[in-house]
Order: sequence, then C-alpha cells, then structure tokens
Amino acid sequence: MERPSFDKLRKGFRLMNWIAEFIETAAAAKVCTRIHCTTCGALDFRRDLVRKANDALGISTSTWDDALAGVTAEGLAHLPDDFTRTHIEAIRLVFFELWSNLGDTAFKRRLLAGLSRELCRKWSTS
Ligand SMILES: [Zn+2]
Repeated sequence: MERPSFDKLRKGFRLMNWIAEFIETAAAAKVCTRIHCTTCGALDFRRDLVRKANDALGISTSTWDDALAGVTAEGLAHLPDDFTRTHIEAIRLVFFELWSNLGDTAFKRRLLAGLSRELCRKWSTS
C-alpha cells in the first residue's frame, strides 16, 4: 500500500484540531455561544474552552494566560476552512474570550495581529 503523503497526514491532523472538535461538539450539543448572552453568559462554552485549552497544553490553570491564549490561537488558525460558514458565532466567542481575558500585553497585540493575518489570508481565498 502506498504511504500517505505528508500533506495528507497533516490534513488529517488538522481535522483533529482540538478546537475544531470542541466547537463541533458544542454545536452538536446546542451549547450557547452568544457573546454577552443575558440568559446564561455562554458559561458552559467558555468554561469548557478553558478546560480544553488546558488539556491541549497538558496543564491545569483556571484563568487565561499567554500560554492558553497561544494554543487557542494556534487552533483557530488551523480551523477547517468551512468553519466560518458553519460555526461563526462560536468562533466569534473564542476571539472575544481571547480579547477580553488577556491584558494589553505585547503578546496579545502580536497574537491578534498574527491571527488576523492568518485568518484573512486563509478565508479570503476560500
Ligand atoms: Zn445563553
């Protein structure tokens, strides 16, 4: 049998991106992803996002920091292309969480600039 190409393997890996899986699971469970939801504050989604980011890093912290934000941004940058059509509300909430929970640090500015660039490049061509 022919060995799968590196690109194929990488694509498979990206499909297993933890945040893609998290967003899909939340959507299937109809978890609220509304920013500033006046009923539930999207608490389940926001709490699980922190938990999954912790799992992805193999750490355990209850508050956002540069490391958690970094792994989350990396996950966002590697989301499958069609996610902006199918899961835009959840993606917006993840951005919002990153934006709101990091102080005004050089890391935050670099992170958001890099992420915006990557997402614009990717999604303007899809
Ligand atoms: Zn809600």
